[in-house]
Amino acid sequence: MTQTHPAMLQNYINGQWSVSVGESLPVINPANAELLTQVPLSTAAELNQAAEAAATAFSTWRRTPATQRIQYLFRLKGLMEEQFEMIAQTITLECGKTLDESKGELRRAIENVEIACGIPMMMQGNNFEDIASGIDEFMIRQPLGVAAVIAPFNFPSMIPFWFLPYALACGNTYIIKPSERVPLTMQKLFQLIDQLDLPKGVINLVNGDKQIVEAILDHPAIRAISFVGSTPVARYIYSRAAANGKRVQCQGGAKNPVIILPDADLEMTTRITADSAFGCAGQRCLAASIAITVGEARHSYSAAIAETAASRKVGNGLEAGVQMGPVITALSRQRIESLIQLGIDEGATPLVDGRSPQIPGYEQGHFVRPTVLQNVDPASEIAKTEIFGPVLSLIHLDSIEAAIALINSGQYGNMACLFTDSGAAARKFRYEAEAGNIGINIGVAAPMAFFPFSGWKDSFFGDLHGQGQHAVEFFTQTKVVVERWSQKNWSRQF
Ligand code: NAD
Repeated sequence: MTQTHPAMLQNYINGQWSVSVGESLPVINPANAELLTQVPLSTAAELNQAAEAAATAFSTWRRTPATQRIQYLFRLKGLMEEQFEMIAQTITLECGKTLDESKGELRRAIENVEIACGIPMMMQGNNFEDIASGIDEFMIRQPLGVAAVIAPFNFPSMIPFWFLPYALACGNTYIIKPSERVPLTMQKLFQLIDQLDLPKGVINLVNGDKQIVEAILDHPAIRAISFVGSTPVARYIYSRAAANGKRVQCQGGAKNPVIILPDADLEMTTRITADSAFGCAGQRCLAASIAITVGEARHSYSAAIAETAASRKVGNGLEAGVQMGPVITALSRQRIESLIQLGIDEGATPLVDGRSPQIPGYEQGHFVRPTVLQNVDPASEIAKTEIFGPVLSLIHLDSIEAAIALINSGQYGNMACLFTDSGAAARKFRYEAEAGNIGINIGVAAPMAFFPFSGWKDSFFGDLHGQGQHAVEFFTQTKVVVERWSQKNWSRQF
């Protein structure tokens, strides 16, 4: 399937495509450095138009019964299924991951649409009769108004869908600000949204970079903000949005450890942890970044993971058989390669060194091959810094207690995994590990759409996470009604 793209992307405001008056940035295919399109850096005035359109649309949208609101989501799911291949290909084109990985993320985006279709059940409140004699009390959920998402580059379709379907189904109106590095996927998804015949202004798309983020953070009509991206930006957005009185949830960076006990199934563990560390070229917030081997696992696992890393087929994610694509930009590649060097300077041994690979036919692509660093010092910078590339650091310890203590000393708490055959070890781990997403013999413990995506510590700022019932709570405010009716005129009326 050959795709054509417009030379310049557009915004979608108040139910119409609109050409931005702002400057623009090139959007580059990371596999071959070719120009795909240009993304506009929209102005604060354009964000204002989107926010005002969404605020106007809110009054009618919140009065549209939930059973009707979800009909638009059913239609959206149908269109996403119809255009599944095209959208998955777009993700690979601009993001670099393999086509199977793109299909995986798109499947999860659709799953969130499906779950949000259950809103007539999920949004219900509760009530209690006779809290005092003849007095009843109800708690109802009402939408907030205009909400917005600020998205990262690594899951251009899935991450906005951790929020959008729930916001909409709950009766809010919405603004999406995609990552300026991967804006094409959302452009294609808005071509589907445009076919839904939604009332004008219910969903809006505003492209741009941090200037637009500032405008979102300060706009008085925007009541709630969801952010996913790096920890420094998450921290900043959380504090500025909160200072402006907005509801805010910010998912940040990660440094995910996996522990491998000597009784783990070596073949399965190696395969699964390699997929976790090197899948999506390590650019997943749930990528394994550190493998802590305990006791005897040190020798068997180190040899097995080195062999798997070295044999991984790297190339253009659109080609059959490719297991790992490029990283997002040339700058990202340079940063990852300099972090590998830092690890070596700090005393680690490169078991597999993936720097400066030659990928025939893709000499301009932003490739780093899988890299495995052995004997990483737990106190070193490389053991603490989020690399966001295909680099796995091996740390060897003597006990599960020491491994859990190391995990719990870390800055982040997005995910932690254990590989073992022991139920008792698994229980100890899931009880004690300080991370919001736990895997037991799982390498990427990504919650399904009906569970919250639960980061902890510096991986999350806020209270309610994305997806499922947490999203319903985030996108609604509770109202409590206490009600009494006089009996005085009862007999006269009836
Ligand atoms: P990023 O923080 O650079 O950018 C995220 C968004 O913030 C983009 O839309 C960007 O335009 C905007 N932005 C960037 N700098 C800004 C600034 N100074 N002020 C205001 N806005 C700014 O993140 P990224 O590189 O796109 O994504 C990778 C990061 O996202 C990694 O750290 C990864 O761990 C994290 N991530 C976390 C999760 C999670 O669920 N915790 C999921 C995916 C990615």
